[in-house]
Amino acid sequence: MQIIDTHCHYNLEPLYSGDPFCFKIKEDSQILQMNWQKHWQNAQKAGVNKSIIVGPGLSSSEKAVEIANEEECLYAAVGIHPERANKIIDIDQAMIALEKLANNKKVIAIGETGLDYFYLNGESLEELTEIKKRQKDLFIGQIKLAQKLNLPLILHVRDKEDLAYQETIDLLEKYWSFNKAIIFHCVSGPISYIEKALTLQNSYFGFDGNITFKKADNIREIFTLVQKTDAKKILLETDAPYLAPEPHRGQICEPQMIVEIANYLEKNLQTNLEEIYQNSLRAFEI
Ligand SMILES: [Zn+2]
Repeated sequence: MQIIDTHCHYNLEPLYSGDPFCFKIKEDSQILQMNWQKHWQNAQKAGVNKSIIVGPGLSSSEKAVEIANEEECLYAAVGIHPERANKIIDIDQAMIALEKLANNKKVIAIGETGLDYFYLNGESLEELTEIKKRQKDLFIGQIKLAQKLNLPLILHVRDKEDLAYQETIDLLEKYWSFNKAIIFHCVSGPISYIEKALTLQNSYFGFDGNITFKKADNIREIFTLVQKTDAKKILLETDAPYLAPEPHRGQICEPQMIVEIANYLEKNLQTNLEEIYQNSLRAFEI
């Protein structure tokens, strides 16, 4: 079995150096003794032969590039996650910084970027409007940057309602040229949105450990729809250290756990893993 993890975070703790960061990890856990090199070794032993390290912020993007330059089969995507929108004071400056990083030959995509309204609540209407506007400006900036550099774009979109999904499609139709791959990472959302996204040229859909969760019928429904419509659009990811698959749910996701997601897909959703492998090579041109 050959596997490419098209979205993971060796650049984030605790994977980077074993620092617990904001996670609750038992003191005697192995994870605290491991660094990204060890995780990458374990992933390779499990059958992963390439991985893409994605930057949710400027300093983590920098780390992604550093790591990718140390290992031939690791690649980097540089970008700013929508939840970081409030931390970016000057969006133009941030785009200049990302462009500089993206000049490195191991950078193969821009992202993760998009809209995330999931945790917004309790803010005043004025604050909400401001946060959403900042997220959109940051998203548009990264769409334009990916186009300027002729790179694929990795999307992170999440909402409790339909708004972020609808607005994502609107912004893509307005600003994205669809020449390169557009990756709906950790895909979620209403079926009408998925149907629309499936019609977009060069669109791909990333599935993670949450597809194994008992209550994730909606994700499995999306998977089945993509598979039935065009199985050449399916990608496999971990989003490690997040979204550990069953039976590890709630623990740190280690990149090697991608094998368990792959096995789950093969067994329960009749997935052709070799086809997914080829899809990953094609989407990211690696
Ligand atoms: Zn991510």
